Amino acid sequence: MAAVTCHACGGYFEVDFAPGTQFTCGACGATLAVPVAPVAQPVQPAAPPPVTPAASAAPVAPAIRPRSAAPMGKPRPGAAARRRAADPIPAKKPIPTGSADLPRSGLHQALGTGSKKNNTVMIAAAGGGMLLLAVIVIIVVSSGGKDGNAAGPGGERVKTEKDFDPYDVARTKAQNGNYDETKRLAEMAWNRFNSAKGRNAEDEKKYRRHWRWAYKQILRREPQNAIAHERMGDILFDLKEAQSLADLEAVSESVRDDLLMLIEDIEANHEASLKKNRGRLWLEPRDKEAKAWLDLKGRLEKHRKATTERATDSFYPEAERYGNKLASDLASDLVDFRLDGIKDAPFSVFVHKPYVFIVQRASAGFEDRVASKWNDVLQQLLETFYGEYGEGANLTPITKPTPIVILRKASEYTKYMVRNDTDDQSPTPVTSAGHFEPGTGRMICYESTEQAERTTLFHEGTHQIVSWAMRRALGAGARQSLWFSEGLADYFGGHAPAVRDGKTVYVPGRINEGRIDTLVKSKAREDLFSFEDLLAYPRSQYVRDNTDPTKSRKVLNAYAQGWALCYFLQTWKKEKYGGQKWIDYLKQEFGGRSGKAAFTSVYGAANLAVMSKEYLEMIDELGKAKKEGRIVNGEIIK
Ligand SMILES: [Zn+2]
Ligand SMILES: [Zn+2]
Repeated sequence: MAAVTCHACGGYFEVDFAPGTQFTCGACGATLAVPVAPVAQPVQPAAPPPVTPAASAAPVAPAIRPRSAAPMGKPRPGAAARRRAADPIPAKKPIPTGSADLPRSGLHQALGTGSKKNNTVMIAAAGGGMLLLAVIVIIVVSSGGKDGNAAGPGGERVKTEKDFDPYDVARTKAQNGNYDETKRLAEMAWNRFNSAKGRNAEDEKKYRRHWRWAYKQILRREPQNAIAHERMGDILFDLKEAQSLADLEAVSESVRDDLLMLIEDIEANHEASLKKNRGRLWLEPRDKEAKAWLDLKGRLEKHRKATTERATDSFYPEAERYGNKLASDLASDLVDFRLDGIKDAPFSVFVHKPYVFIVQRASAGFEDRVASKWNDVLQQLLETFYGEYGEGANLTPITKPTPIVILRKASEYTKYMVRNDTDDQSPTPVTSAGHFEPGTGRMICYESTEQAERTTLFHEGTHQIVSWAMRRALGAGARQSLWFSEGLADYFGGHAPAVRDGKTVYVPGRINEGRIDTLVKSKAREDLFSFEDLLAYPRSQYVRDNTDPTKSRKVLNAYAQGWALCYFLQTWKKEKYGGQKWIDYLKQEFGGRSGKAAFTSVYGAANLAVMSKEYLEMIDELGKAKKEGRIVNGEIIK
């Protein structure tokens, strides 16, 4: 019997093989070997002569799916030992898979007795941690020292398995140019690297260095070794695959052009290699061509998936009809939206569920990219909004085509704004790159700076989501309190990226510093809305006030105070008024109930005085924080 501990996962085995025999750890798949020199055998009497002859460079067992090991260190050693002794399983019997089948404590052995390769066995370890500890202790005791290198009773050095770590053996041989050992080292270093990952930074670095070294040697000898390339992070370019992606139907022209250009470049730069390897080419990850290929491939695969979806979802034909109609309506207006001498239709239509993009064409082209870029931001908004409220407020996904009109510059937007003079189009007192039309459900925006576009899309897009949420409450939009409809849009307009569980998400509710200035000045002048008046001020009154130049300050206050109230309820006094309370209030609004009555039904009429006081105090504190420069990226720092 020889004791072997898996270098990668710590699994423990007692095996009957000749020194030097290699086998695969059934728990993690690492290649293990029986130590070449005898290890102290304190528990078992002298082992019977090995059945198999010693093999110096035995082949690694063929890939047998490793299973997850049971948690280490829990099993009772006695139970484990008994189990092992009583229950050896021949290799030909299927080894139980799945953790449910694995005994919690116990060690299963699958001996390779029936296998053609006698020196190759598969062993499954399940929780032998305690047993391993016990063995180590015994080894230490029997060697008469505190560590494995201490001298034995007879004065000679007693060797432990540590001295014969197959890893070190492989490493030395590999460095001396032994190619088989280089391959072994690569595999072992890779396994050790993966078990050290996130647990031991030093080992992680070390083994990374080792496998990178070994795989580089392998690639020198076998330049097409796929595993080595994959582990080095190389990117496989496949000419056939690239060509089939370029042949996909309905791929936008600009993406297809990019891909064809890339294929052309790669063919020119790697002609010989492509020919030799039947159109396959490994590219280094930092390579410009690799990056371009990955990017295009990702986009086209997404496109392929969307194409399948489009073929079966009736939303798409409906949205396309809707978009084409809107595009032609806009085109037949009195205003000419044809830019840069474009002769035919001034708009192109793109559908990204649930949005329909009507993009003004320009000589610069790339209308499809403009639509995708804006769609990315709007999808982030959907994720953010539904992430915050979707479940609580029972929001269902938007299934109605939601129009986004994109104009190419501010002067085109002005054209749109003056093309007729319904209430819908009266400019809002926000410095924004667009607006939402409650009557038509449209968002109209123009290209500006990335930040302005993002803020606008989140703000106006919030109006669209709220409008969807209120779709059954007909006519409620005009009666809705302005503080809620504009405040909530502003609350989402002020968003910032954050990382959660390794994923980028967007968090709303960043402080809008522009609004603070308005609030502080108006408070000093004592012309803020009272708390109750603010709750009662409806959008219909705002629309009238907005056309009256003498009411401009009132309108601006309504916006600023609306943002402040949303911030107050959801962030500033989150514990007291946010969370479920706020969700309850949202349900009122989404059900078409707004104003003071809806507010007090959730927050209580008796609490208004206290809330009003707290709200004004917040305005003071925000003003102070801003003055002292303590607002950074929309958050107050101490
Ligand atoms: Zn293992
Ligand atoms: Zn708005």
